Amino acid sequence: MNEEDYLPISYLNDFLFCERRAALHLLEGIWRDNQYTLEGTFAHRNVDVEANRKRGQKRQVTGMWVVSHRLGLIGRCDLVEFLEAVPAAEPSPSANPAPPNPVPYPVDFKRGKKRRWDNDEVQLCAQAICLEEMLGTSIPAGAIFHIKSQHRQEVVFDDELRAKTESAAVRLAKLLANKQTPTAKYHAKCRGCSLFEWCMPKALRPRATAKRYLETILEPE
Ligand code: SF4
Repeated sequence: MNEEDYLPISYLNDFLFCERRAALHLLEGIWRDNQYTLEGTFAHRNVDVEANRKRGQKRQVTGMWVVSHRLGLIGRCDLVEFLEAVPAAEPSPSANPAPPNPVPYPVDFKRGKKRRWDNDEVQLCAQAICLEEMLGTSIPAGAIFHIKSQHRQEVVFDDELRAKTESAAVRLAKLLANKQTPTAKYHAKCRGCSLFEWCMPKALRPRATAKRYLETILEPE
């Protein structure tokens, strides 16, 4: 894959929300913001600025560009904190070992509260995978910072999350290479989708039944 074809990490969240939505946006150029997408943009306003500062034992870097050549992904981390690594053992007085490299800790900023269909953890994990590849290190965890509640939710990059992230990257690349927009399937999440008017999932769905109607209205937001 050529570097200019690398996919933005932010597309993974969109793709996992709905493959058709990702195709409408990325293949057909259809996009419209709504409350949720604008909240996302607003949340990144301050941390998109590149900065590098020391705070106590941490170095904080905002707006850092990251890339994974293995997965063909590129993106920007809102914040990466470099935490001092604890030495494995007490150094002997005669030895003069190099200090251990600081461990990167990516933090992604979200403005609104988490919705049921969001895949923020995948987006964060993709950033961690990029950082690992770039810095030749291993990153066990990061965090999602919810601006409204000022709360940090820690995310552990376990095997399951890594597999979900890598699979999403591969499937998204395949979707774009095939250039075929999947057909619509009406789902509870369609109600919060900014492309609802263009997608028309109700017009394209199979004939409605009472059972299907009940399933739809009983599904929580
Ligand atoms: S309206 Fe529903 S099916 Fe259509 S793009 Fe949005 S989420 Fe996907």
